[in-house]
Amino acid sequence: MGIKIVPRHGKSLKDKLYIPAIIGGMKTTFTHFKKNLGDVSNLRTMQYPEVQPDDITDRYRGVHRLTKWDDGSEKCVACYMCATACPAQCIFIDAEERFDNVAEKRPKEFKIDLLECVYCGYCVEACPCDAIRMDTGIFSFTASKREDFLVDKKRLMSHERSKDFDNE
Ligand code: SF4
Ligand code: SF4
Repeated sequence: MGIKIVPRHGKSLKDKLYIPAIIGGMKTTFTHFKKNLGDVSNLRTMQYPEVQPDDITDRYRGVHRLTKWDDGSEKCVACYMCATACPAQCIFIDAEERFDNVAEKRPKEFKIDLLECVYCGYCVEACPCDAIRMDTGIFSFTASKREDFLVDKKRLMSHERSKDFDNE
């Protein structure tokens, strides 16, 4: 096998001074700065949050939602399949009996810790009832307290499918 010996750089006095390299780097920075100062149309960055992204597809995994029947009740039957599949173990379900002939059980409480969630989508894949989805398009979730990232059943049921996906 032919082995190519690559000479090590950085041994000369010029390399060890670093100053020529720094000047070269700053030259590149200021060239772009000057160009972009007059014309921002070619910038690759977005002025977020003033400008929101409009290229989120319906395959994007955003914050979860619990789907509902037409009467507004939850489709979830508290089978724990999602919690079992969750690699982050961040789904907490407290089941109770259901007496309206829709299913045997329902979640009395259903919580997801978004600080633990890795947005893998395994919960959605595991659900046999299409009761949990990640098609809300919510990609940014901020809060001032850690507890606020623990989203409960009421909040999960209040999330809707993103309207941006309706035409896709
Ligand atoms: S997206 Fe993944 S990590 Fe997050 S709740 Fe679902 S299974 Fe767990
Ligand atoms: S969301 Fe789906 S998988 Fe999770 S407990 Fe409810 S029915 Fe089962």
